[in-house]
Amino acid sequence: MSKINPEFADTLAKYGAFDITACFNCGTCTSICSLSDEDNFFPRKMIRASVLGQTDKIDSSLEPWLCYYCGECSTSCPREANPGELMMSLRRYLTARYDWTGLSAKFYTSKLWELGAIILLALFVLVMFILFAGPMDTTLTDQGGVKLNTFAPAKVVHIADWLMAASLVFFLTGNVFRMYWRTIVKDESVKIPFKLYFTEAWKFVFHFATQWQFSKCGDKIDDGEKKKEKTSTYWIIHLFLMTGYVLLLIMIVGFLNWFQTEEIHPWWHPQRLLGYYATTGLFVGLIYFTVQRIKKSSEKAKFTHYTDWTFLVLLFLTTLTGIMVHIFRITGLPYATYYIYVIHLMVLFPMLMIEVPFSKWSHLAYRPFAIYFSNVKIAAKKIKK
Ligand code: SF4
Ligand code: SF4
Repeated sequence: MSKINPEFADTLAKYGAFDITACFNCGTCTSICSLSDEDNFFPRKMIRASVLGQTDKIDSSLEPWLCYYCGECSTSCPREANPGELMMSLRRYLTARYDWTGLSAKFYTSKLWELGAIILLALFVLVMFILFAGPMDTTLTDQGGVKLNTFAPAKVVHIADWLMAASLVFFLTGNVFRMYWRTIVKDESVKIPFKLYFTEAWKFVFHFATQWQFSKCGDKIDDGEKKKEKTSTYWIIHLFLMTGYVLLLIMIVGFLNWFQTEEIHPWWHPQRLLGYYATTGLFVGLIYFTVQRIKKSSEKAKFTHYTDWTFLVLLFLTTLTGIMVHIFRITGLPYATYYIYVIHLMVLFPMLMIEVPFSKWSHLAYRPFAIYFSNVKIAAKKIKK
């Protein structure tokens, strides 16, 4: 028997959902959603569970993560119950439920908590620079570049990077494990043969790298061609942004000694080309998604939670200051490089520490894991039959 939480509509409202009680269970959203089939009333099952406050059912479900927010269900809902945004709100809610520290719930429901955490982490970086930064050397390298590694030795910054990466992995792994525990281990309806975790593992890699599920949204709509084309643009730009972000993270955490050099490489050098790819991906994605949200030009851009804006602003400032560091360094402007470098890290550090394990970007891990777990379950059920 599922537990009922009569306050759930109010709780979910804090995570962004509109009036979920507007739904009169007509099933239009299920008939249009490309993820529904005869065995799975998607997204109606989650809508009913939300309306009834069946939090156990929601906590143990992977379904909100399978939705890629194409918005077709919201467009076609006769009651304007906004099922697409409901699924988005459930993802925020579940992110908070997986997080054992409780910080995610604070960030999602209190602007003060989120802003306070950003300021605190930014000040922490500033204090670290005041205490440990090297001298601001104004002499230039033979190539006319700034000696950034004298002010902020790559080796020292790299150690800090590793500590940060270790804490990100620590928090995120713990949260993914809680997702696994609630959705797989506690699910008594299916027993998973161990080998399925290996045979289905490629789906995690595939969906992480391609975001493939997103490209399927829109398959069922009547005037499909036009809307499907729009979805594909969204999918490709999202992929560009995601790969740029992940590439930058890999270079910063894994190869900083190679990435933060004093040598000015020619423009075609892999270090610069990879940096330009990542920066372009971030900028194109940021401009596209920001314009969409400002103009409210698609269903999924009509409602923006304040944490979405926080993420966009932090990522924009990180990208902009990163580009400025690069330009100032290679054009030989020492003070401008040093000050912008400090500001760059004051934005980058809170952005990663808050967004990756506790907020918007945790979906980068949760979504492919959910698809993977869901496929493991489906394969187990097929064996059982
Ligand atoms: S959310 Fe809208 S379309 Fe879906 S069942 Fe409810 S009223 Fe119908
Ligand atoms: S937003 Fe798209 S994928 Fe998500 S439930 Fe609605 S129709 Fe399905």
